[in-house]
Amino acid sequence: MDGAADGGFSLELGRDLAEMRDWVHEFAAAVIRPAAAEWDEREQTPWPVLDQAATIGLYSLDFYAQQYVEPSGLGIPVVFEELFWGDAGIGLSLVGSSLAAVSVVASGTPEQVAEWCPQMFGGPGDVKLGAFCSSEPDAGSDVGAIRTRAVYDRGRREWELNGVKTWATNGGIANVHVVVAAVDPSLGTRGQASFIVPPGTAGLSMGQKFRKHGIRASHTAEVILDGVRVPERCVVGGRDRLEERLARVREGGRAGDQAAMKTFEASRPGVAAMAVGVARAAAEYAAEYARTRVQFGRPIGQNQAVAFMLADMNAAVDAARLLAWRAAWMARQGRPFARAEGSMSKLVAGETAVRVTEQAIQILGGNGYTRDYPVERWHRDAKIFAIFEGTSEIQRLIIGRAVTGLDVR
Ligand SMILES: Cc1cc2nc3c(=O)[nH]c(=O)nc-3n(C[C@H](O)[C@H](O)[C@H](O)COP(=O)(O)OP(=O)(O)OC[C@H]3O[C@@H](n4cnc5c(N)ncnc54)[C@H](O)[C@@H]3O)c2cc1C
Repeated sequence: MDGAADGGFSLELGRDLAEMRDWVHEFAAAVIRPAAAEWDEREQTPWPVLDQAATIGLYSLDFYAQQYVEPSGLGIPVVFEELFWGDAGIGLSLVGSSLAAVSVVASGTPEQVAEWCPQMFGGPGDVKLGAFCSSEPDAGSDVGAIRTRAVYDRGRREWELNGVKTWATNGGIANVHVVVAAVDPSLGTRGQASFIVPPGTAGLSMGQKFRKHGIRASHTAEVILDGVRVPERCVVGGRDRLEERLARVREGGRAGDQAAMKTFEASRPGVAAMAVGVARAAAEYAAEYARTRVQFGRPIGQNQAVAFMLADMNAAVDAARLLAWRAAWMARQGRPFARAEGSMSKLVAGETAVRVTEQAIQILGGNGYTRDYPVERWHRDAKIFAIFEGTSEIQRLIIGRAVTGLDVR
């Protein structure tokens, strides 16, 4: 946001950000959106689109890194909104690796970031992926129930990982997997750490690939870890820091960071921005349809019933964006989410996307219910935002705890 330096307040994007937004939008409009229906039907990672994005530098570690350090904090939300305006499934394929990279950046050492993050992106003609694997069949919302075990082998200075991960975006097809595992299961989330599984490591394989309701261009699968051995340096943050942290927790002190939680906290405003992109696409499309579809001798948008729906949709999209921007700005300023502002943005944006895309179908009538128009796909896609990266209920739980100070359950 401009203007902060002189004590003023502005929501206007700076020139660099505005230019970057327009550049991403152009790609979303010219490449992503026209490809969306095809990859939704194919239910496969859209490799040609990733490669095109890599060619222009949009799918690259450099680009995402620049946006993550962008001083206003709005780089990531602006990029994600535009990509997901193009298409959520392809959008998630384009940003899935950055979510995995964040899990290393958030708690990793500079050496780990330098060694592994480039391998999650590759380059033009040789695109690579990253995957972040936290969820398990019996540990979704309840991250503390993770059963995947990491055991340190002192003799070989290696970690051995065993367990089953599920719902992993890019799981099994990624070059680098970041896996959350219990080092000391008796400590719940505080006894967990993230581990980098390098490309081609024996024992890691893909289980079931899921056939989904929406975001079908994004690959989601189980990841099986059967005697996976990784070098000592692959524990995110380093072994010394992990041992210190575990010792502190065992003595009854506070845990410094909790692997999965820290990743989710950092990524929520970005996920909110994705949802804003989908909702905005639907609100725009429905407004255009309402201007041109004539019934009873006038555009349907001239009926208050329809125009009021569009009014609600547009107001909701803007409100969601403002919450996402606020949280992203706070995170960049290093301000703690004292009232769970990150969760607020994800909750409101996710539910807005579901509602607004449903309203868009209503405005398109029968057409909205067919695959000849994109709004039915957007509605299917939108639902994920109330589920992943913490369901809406879990966001309410976090906000409820933050604002009451009580152990809300
Ligand atoms: C397409 C897709 C991609 C995903 N990508 C990834 C990924 O890349 N990496 C990864 O690790 N995970 C990923 N996930 C997993 C996702 O984060 C989980 O699905 C989510 O956290 C919910 O867990 P669950 O599905 O086990 O549902 P559950 O935890 O079983 O929840 C089921 C229902 O119970 C409710 N509920 C549970 N506990 C409570 C409570 N205490 N209070 C109130 N309500 C509660 C939930 O809100 C939900 O409505 C992905 C999921 C999907 C569908």
